[in-house]
Amino acid sequence: MVHAIRIHQYGGPEAMRWEAVDVGAPGPGEIRIRHHTVGLNYIDVYHRSGSYPLAALPAVIGMEGAGEVLAVGAGVTGLEPGDRVAYANPIGAYAEERIIPAERVVKLPDAIPYQTAAAMMLQGMTAEYLLLRTFKVGPETTLLFHAAAGGVGLIACQWARHLGATIIGTVGSDEKAEQARAAGCTHVINYRRENFVERVRELTGGKGCDVVYDGIGKDTYPGSLDCLKPRGLWVSFGNASGKIEGFDLGLLATKGSLYATRPTLFTYIAKRDELVASANALFDVVARGIVTINVNQTYPLSAAADAHRDLEARRTTGSTVLLP
Ligand code: NDP
Repeated sequence: MVHAIRIHQYGGPEAMRWEAVDVGAPGPGEIRIRHHTVGLNYIDVYHRSGSYPLAALPAVIGMEGAGEVLAVGAGVTGLEPGDRVAYANPIGAYAEERIIPAERVVKLPDAIPYQTAAAMMLQGMTAEYLLLRTFKVGPETTLLFHAAAGGVGLIACQWARHLGATIIGTVGSDEKAEQARAAGCTHVINYRRENFVERVRELTGGKGCDVVYDGIGKDTYPGSLDCLKPRGLWVSFGNASGKIEGFDLGLLATKGSLYATRPTLFTYIAKRDELVASANALFDVVARGIVTINVNQTYPLSAAADAHRDLEARRTTGSTVLLP
């Protein structure tokens, strides 16, 4: 038996219980790993609260981890006990040990510590697909990134700076504004104090942005659409403030023949070769010092409830990890 954080029903942070679970032996195509570090992501809150319903309860939540291979099941090639690996899905990460399909993990380069890996796999591969595949960001791009000092935000802004983009970031405090600036934001807007739509219009000389990356959802809708140029792209990739209800397709017409997409990382890394390419792109920018992974909070895994409280109360910046 090992310990894990499980939920038996959806609810607040108190729904998470630290309890003994049986992990078992890996089946065909699976491996058993011991986590050295587990990653915290906003999707864990949606899974815990039931905003994104799970296949079954009770469930071990958590999408991201890094650790060593303990055992491999039948038919697994290219991995052996002792290998250092990391992953960003499927669910089941808030545990000391777990079983996972071998094809969902990537081997970690020696230069990447477990803690960095667990802090970056999900948020970093998200930055990769958002900036390179959902839209191709380059020197000509002006983009708006909401929650620029968050986990995805700090990684995406550093990466977008490297791509040469003009970056407008929004943040909820002055301290976060400094972090966003250090990560490469050309302009930072404190959207608790300032009207972000008006500021974006000013900063772009009335033109608007080519692309808006919005992980906030309810509170920034439909304002984010007003920050775009005609035929610009609205990337709604999360709902930290709540889901957008009653999306009006007609707004895309009235606000300038806009494009909209609601992507998720799991489509973009569904195929093994996409997962490997995305992870390698991330390892590359981290190894070259283009992107620094800011692990700004750590908690014992058994205290995951405290981590959720801080994340939901907007008290965290950058990445957060949980230590088994
Ligand atoms: P963050 O570290 O960015 O934390 C969320 C941040 O959102 C807060 O720190 C806060 O920053 C901001 N925020 C604004 N309003 C609220 C609110 N009402 N409640 C809570 N937070 C609020 O989290 P992640 O980096 O893990 O994720 C960022 C977003 O990206 C999430 O929506 C997540 O679901 C999404 N995501 C989507 C993926 C995809 O593929 N679709 C993959 C990964 C993440 P501030 O105080 O500066 O406003």
